[in-house]
Amino acid sequence: MGMLLNPADVSSTNPWFMVFIPNLNALVEDLSAGSMRFCISADSKVQACAIHDDQAIVLSAGMFDLLCKLASSIVSRGIYPALGTTRKSDWSPDINNNLRSVRDILTASSFNEVLNPSWFNDSERLELFFQLLWSMVRFVVLHEVGHLWHQHGQRRKEGHRFEIDNLGSKSLQEPKQALESQARELLADQFAFRSLLRIQHEEILHPPTRKSENTVRSALLSSPSEEISFGLLTTYFYFYAVDQYNWDIENTHLYSHPPAPFRLKALLCDLFEFGTLGLSPSECQSVIIRANVIADAVISTTFQRFPDLNWMALMNDKRLLKHFTHLCDEIPNWRRVL
Ligand SMILES: [Zn+2]
Repeated sequence: MGMLLNPADVSSTNPWFMVFIPNLNALVEDLSAGSMRFCISADSKVQACAIHDDQAIVLSAGMFDLLCKLASSIVSRGIYPALGTTRKSDWSPDINNNLRSVRDILTASSFNEVLNPSWFNDSERLELFFQLLWSMVRFVVLHEVGHLWHQHGQRRKEGHRFEIDNLGSKSLQEPKQALESQARELLADQFAFRSLLRIQHEEILHPPTRKSENTVRSALLSSPSEEISFGLLTTYFYFYAVDQYNWDIENTHLYSHPPAPFRLKALLCDLFEFGTLGLSPSECQSVIIRANVIADAVISTTFQRFPDLNWMALMNDKRLLKHFTHLCDEIPNWRRVL
């Protein structure tokens, strides 16, 4: 898992770490009543990891940097024009931008944009950056908490007692092993998304500490449907940005992790089946449709790409629908029973 880092080591290259580390420590401690701890790793290949024996949640510095770049890229564009002074948004898509993954674009981009952004002195744009980044980082960390909470490492029959989330790793496995691994991933995602919405909801019941926080809340989190929408948007941005597009439908059942759009679709199915925050499944359906359209528009504008209409649509392939049914049968074996 690479060398574990001191917060001071990483904050010299990315000062946002110092802002987020206390919040992430508190998040993990609160959720686990102090039984889990949060750490940072220097490993550049792994995005995050849950270590059962140490009850440790590990986030890689590289993953945090990538999410900072993603949030900064979104805020730098004229998206959400009601928030802060911003240049007018423009959309001049270039097909060449569709030929590279968003992750590759972000990895190659300069970190200077994050350190010296044009919007840094605008309190509302800064708040927007903070809220986008906080939501995405929380989802990643809560996913790992979900692995430990469901006791996945403890219940694995084979291999190590880690749950490692690699960026774009194919890691072809035996079908049974892959099915079990993917079921664990979907459960951890479900835990993360539901926890994210609940924590976000509890947070906005408290008065904001900053004036700009109040403005962003009014614009983006003014009702339960807006809260779900914001959670869906940031989850979409995260999945879209980490997707490697190197999976193929035929072998999806052999990967350790389902493809990113498949994971997003599983979350949407969960919302559509059970609803949340007092919204019925059918009320959630309209939130889902709207959030997907907005997310696609934000990604297209931010990265000057044409909309990627196939990204989610491919998940309706017959083989994937069958695979999803198999996963639904496997999921109860990895759910913690209280
Ligand atoms: Zn995982």
